Amino acid sequence: MNTDNPLERYSRQMRVPGIGKAGQQKIMNSRVTLCGCGALGTVLANTLARAGVGFIRVVDRDFVEPSNLQRQVLFDESDVTNNLPKAEAAATKLRQINSSIEIESVVADIDRTNIEDLCKDADLILDGTDNFEARYLINDIAIKLGKPWVYGGAVGSEGMTFTIIPGQTPCLRCVFEASPGPGEVGTCETAGVLAPIVSIIASFQAAEALKILAGKPEAISKELFVLNIWENTSRRVKIAPLAGRKGQCPCCAKREFEWLDGAHGTQTTTLCGRNAVQVTQKRSSSLNFGDLAKQLEASGPVSSNKFLLKFQVSDGGDPYDFTVFPDGRAIIKGTDDPDRARTLYAKYIGH
Ligand SMILES: [Zn+2]
Repeated sequence: MNTDNPLERYSRQMRVPGIGKAGQQKIMNSRVTLCGCGALGTVLANTLARAGVGFIRVVDRDFVEPSNLQRQVLFDESDVTNNLPKAEAAATKLRQINSSIEIESVVADIDRTNIEDLCKDADLILDGTDNFEARYLINDIAIKLGKPWVYGGAVGSEGMTFTIIPGQTPCLRCVFEASPGPGEVGTCETAGVLAPIVSIIASFQAAEALKILAGKPEAISKELFVLNIWENTSRRVKIAPLAGRKGQCPCCAKREFEWLDGAHGTQTTTLCGRNAVQVTQKRSSSLNFGDLAKQLEASGPVSSNKFLLKFQVSDGGDPYDFTVFPDGRAIIKGTDDPDRARTLYAKYIGH
């Protein structure tokens, strides 16, 4: 590619009044950590790499599977055949898209022990995750380090997004103080997901990211945006008055980082010799087996009594047996890998 004028490839973007040459230079000098490179994450990474973001760290714990290809735009069939981790497959594509920027791939489960290292040198954190545990952890680190982040989520035909700038806007806990309990909200495995809602929400996040990285944070949306592309409905919720919750927000007002400190979230124990892992909620919650059974119906056989709920799924071609208890604890048989078990828990039970 002709590199005589490295800015030429961004000429259409620079022509947008809010960006200009100065904004483009800022974008090219900026660093982003992308947490999760699935449906939202691939759209985010694709857009930001093309926009010229100078450094993108792509963090993801999963491998590319056939059921990802319907919406995860950076992957193709050869990535499935080659059994590639998503972060690696994405990095290869992103380097082909834009060789003038730096891409770092990290194949890891984001948790409280590694998130600070993954985010401390970034100007912005992007949420491409699929579970609330990771999002509350991102919120904790973003507030702790004073870094902006953009929340996004999509399940079924509905998606939601808003932008957090520490000290200026409400944080995730100002808006949703507690994360939904296990089984309370559908996941992409149980409720499905339409690709267009993912692209729209991720594109909205990417636009917010470009405003911040171009040095125009005042241009961000101050509202929570909810869109359902099947029902043809949208809502913009004014959340600005919630900022800090009158000094009561545990995270941004009181600076209690409960996910980072390990008071919340899940923990795993490998059950020796049983090819099984137990996943426990740090704060026990009470599960509604009826709702959970309904959510899981399409994924595989479910049975329950008042003490436990059992279900079987085939994931990536491998069979797994789940036994779930009313306090949210689960034993997942079919793996002895704690990261795999946490992924499966987030996928089917949700958190
Ligand atoms: Zn807050």
